[in-house]
Amino acid sequence: MLGRSNVGKSSLLNALTGVRGLARVSATPGRTQLVNFFRVESDFYLADLPGYGFARVPQSVRAGWERLVRSYLEDRGPLALCVFLVDVRHDPGEHDRALQGYLEELQLPYVICATKSDKLGRGELNRRIAKLQSALGARAQAVLPVSATEGTGLEPLWNRIRSAAKTRREASRGH
Ligand code: GDP
Repeated sequence: MLGRSNVGKSSLLNALTGVRGLARVSATPGRTQLVNFFRVESDFYLADLPGYGFARVPQSVRAGWERLVRSYLEDRGPLALCVFLVDVRHDPGEHDRALQGYLEELQLPYVICATKSDKLGRGELNRRIAKLQSALGARAQAVLPVSATEGTGLEPLWNRIRSAAKTRREASRGH
């Protein structure tokens, strides 16, 4: 799970796992500097990577984030799917583009989720999803709208995650 600070990552993790308090919802951006793991099934984990893109952090902290995320993403055999979160209301920023650049460069499978979809009416939501789709398009499949608050979009996202985990499992058995 990757995305800028305040994108709604902790809330989505909570909603996905259905266990309140499993991932802390932080009101203070930038507190999580570790990779937190949540066991979903006996052989499958969700990893919560620290949020990025804080306006006021020093360059050294940004460089630290980059190192952590790059070292996490590179050469990670068991990685089945990256869930890349963007706020449905905002156009992708410089850091989002840098992250997408890594994902492309490393040829990692990823799905783009547009968070907080409950904040928009249906027409505006469709327009924003189409805009994000064309802005981020590339190798990514359809941008999935999700709302942690309303619980919408969680099932399609779970399906993507589970099917990626299954593919990964089968590939590792085949070797
Ligand atoms: P994180 O920094 O990415 O982990 O973001 P949080 O999960 O802490 O959420 C940041 C803010 O967005 C909080 O005020 C949340 O209540 C709010 N938020 C998160 N998800 C949703 C959502 O699906 N809908 C709405 N309306 N607000 C959300």
